[in-house]
Amino acid sequence: MLKLKFKNQNYYSKIYAVIFILTFCTLNFYGCATYPRRAEVKKPSLPVDKTFRIGRTDYIYLKDLCQAYDLVWDWDILGKRLTLYREGLKINLAIGSSLGLLNEQRIALQDKVRIYNYEIVIPFILSEEIAKIIFPSQRVPPGIYKIKRVVIDPGHGGKDPGAVGPGGIKEKDVVLDIAKKLKKFLENRGIEVILTREKDKFVSLWRRKHLANTKRADLFISIHANSSRWRQARGFEVYYLSDRMDESSKALVRLENAGLEFEEGQFFTENTALAATLWDIVQTQNRAQAIRLANKISECMEKIDWVDNRGIKGANFYVLRGANMPAILIETGFISNVIESKKLANPYYSQSLAEAIGEGIINYKEEFERTDGFTR
Ligand SMILES: [Zn+2]
Repeated sequence: MLKLKFKNQNYYSKIYAVIFILTFCTLNFYGCATYPRRAEVKKPSLPVDKTFRIGRTDYIYLKDLCQAYDLVWDWDILGKRLTLYREGLKINLAIGSSLGLLNEQRIALQDKVRIYNYEIVIPFILSEEIAKIIFPSQRVPPGIYKIKRVVIDPGHGGKDPGAVGPGGIKEKDVVLDIAKKLKKFLENRGIEVILTREKDKFVSLWRRKHLANTKRADLFISIHANSSRWRQARGFEVYYLSDRMDESSKALVRLENAGLEFEEGQFFTENTALAATLWDIVQTQNRAQAIRLANKISECMEKIDWVDNRGIKGANFYVLRGANMPAILIETGFISNVIESKKLANPYYSQSLAEAIGEGIINYKEEFERTDGFTR
């Protein structure tokens, strides 16, 4: 009898143990258990089971993304802007744009944030970017503050000659020569360079910046030569994108944007779509970096003998507007000036211009990388 009672007790305690384990696991599964889930903190799992495809891109619903990473979100319906927060993390996004800011640093998603099934959906790649920041073990993605790829844009080409100098010297030929030499200079220093044109052919202004965006260039540098009715005008200028312009810059912008006359109408739609995006936020950061780059280049260019530095200026060049990276435009000299046009056509002079611009880019790159994108 005694023995039997003992056996029964053992039997019931086993059942209780099984029930207890099952209950605990179930509670845990539904998220009711309150003990910290250590394994999850150490090895973050991306919410891959929540993804779905639109076209070629993996997307996740905003609400699933926020749930996975404990994010709070805020939505500005007029600006179509979206802000996601949690401690140590702030993300700015916009509907219809693949650009964003992650803790004030520019990020390019592989596709647009959009509305799908009446809900906001976000390219899944953002999930990985968030994980890198939230989970310290995966922090500091290597190569985030690197200048690896530069798009050099020799202005004009083909049916668009640009400015034409007194001896028939054409801007399109002069700037292509400088761009090719600059490409070589930078490639010898380990930077990948893509030219928007390699020969004398017409490339639309829209296609030039679009190339820089699709190639995910770290910098975009457009090279030009200036022209003025005042034949004595000489010297170089470096421009960054700005809406505020002085009168002489306005005249120059009319000249450089004139390339648009040769183009089809497609860019207008692209431009209006951009107005509703994060453009101004991203542009603020890009502009600050573009000004630093302009300074570095200007410092090196003014060391060339007998060259006048006309300064760093802001202007609204179409070719710079809509580039997703720091973008500048260099007016290397006045092709309308007899002496300067001869110099620009001289291969030794164009070599020294290319080297000066190249050294400026290298100086910028070194400082950018040393200071983690000017954050330290
Ligand atoms: Zn030009």
